[in-house]
Amino acid sequence: MTTPEEALWSPRPLGRPQPGATEKVRVVEVGPRDGLQAEQQPLPSAVKRELCERLWYAGAQSVEITSFVPPGWVPQLADAAELTAALSFPQSTRSIALVPNLHGLERARAAGYREVSAVASCTESFARANLNATAEEAFERVGQIVAAARPAGIPVRGYLSMSFGDPWEGHTSPEKAGEFAARLHRLGCSTVAISDTIGTATPQHTKDVLAAAAAAGLPVEATALHMHDTYGLALTNVYAALEEGVTEFDSSIGGLGRCPYAPGAAGNLATEDLVWMLEGLGVDTGLDLDLLADTSGWISGHLGRRSPSRVVRAFSARAAHRRITDPDTT
Ligand code: MG
Repeated sequence: MTTPEEALWSPRPLGRPQPGATEKVRVVEVGPRDGLQAEQQPLPSAVKRELCERLWYAGAQSVEITSFVPPGWVPQLADAAELTAALSFPQSTRSIALVPNLHGLERARAAGYREVSAVASCTESFARANLNATAEEAFERVGQIVAAARPAGIPVRGYLSMSFGDPWEGHTSPEKAGEFAARLHRLGCSTVAISDTIGTATPQHTKDVLAAAAAAGLPVEATALHMHDTYGLALTNVYAALEEGVTEFDSSIGGLGRCPYAPGAAGNLATEDLVWMLEGLGVDTGLDLDLLADTSGWISGHLGRRSPSRVVRAFSARAAHRRITDPDTT
């Protein structure tokens, strides 16, 4: 029997699958790429390698490892080929590399990737600032990447940036986001990651964008959501999307990543926080929450700051409490 104190510090929500509810979710870990590219200082390749290995050990099935953009664009990921060569991809896992164009696709293929991702934008401003293209040109590039990748059996995951709001252009209409998301699907993207790049989405807005995308022809099975936690609603938005049948969500260990073009925008939804909620809903992710929390604390240490994850903070407080009340357990 648990004491009231033990119950208070219980490390796990007691989730049971609900009849008719989602039972399994694909979590796409984007920390090594989307997270680390936003850091001021590049991390050593050996630390990135250990990060990937820790994530796999924690059960991560889908990890976006790096990006094959020109090294001058993103110095933080300039070691893409070298890092990849040092990794032994576990069988049965999916390793993804972001590619900006056909040259990037060729580099990713040469490095051994069998799945890539590519970025399109809902807004002209973001396309120009981040993709060095017009929005139309960005779509054309994704089309070129898909046309070259698909015959080689390489699925292309399409990100749609600024699907909810844009730091220069403001609110993105759900109809526009939905139409653009469906366009990525028509181009042949295997999955469309509808992305709240600056983290302004709210639950009803999330449902409205998903409904518009579905109405425009994007199947829910090909829909993923990529949320940022600027206003603390990333998890709430994921819950809203679960209610609409979405089963694929991006997240980042330790909440790594932010948008350099959006001052104040917080990082990606933390993987640990997402898994805590999903466990509580009885949803299977295949991920080990304790190992994720350890990894979150470890990478935050390398970056010289505390993990922003609420789960990690709660686990740390619990561990510290135990050390005080029962020193022999340390
Ligand atoms: Mg992101």
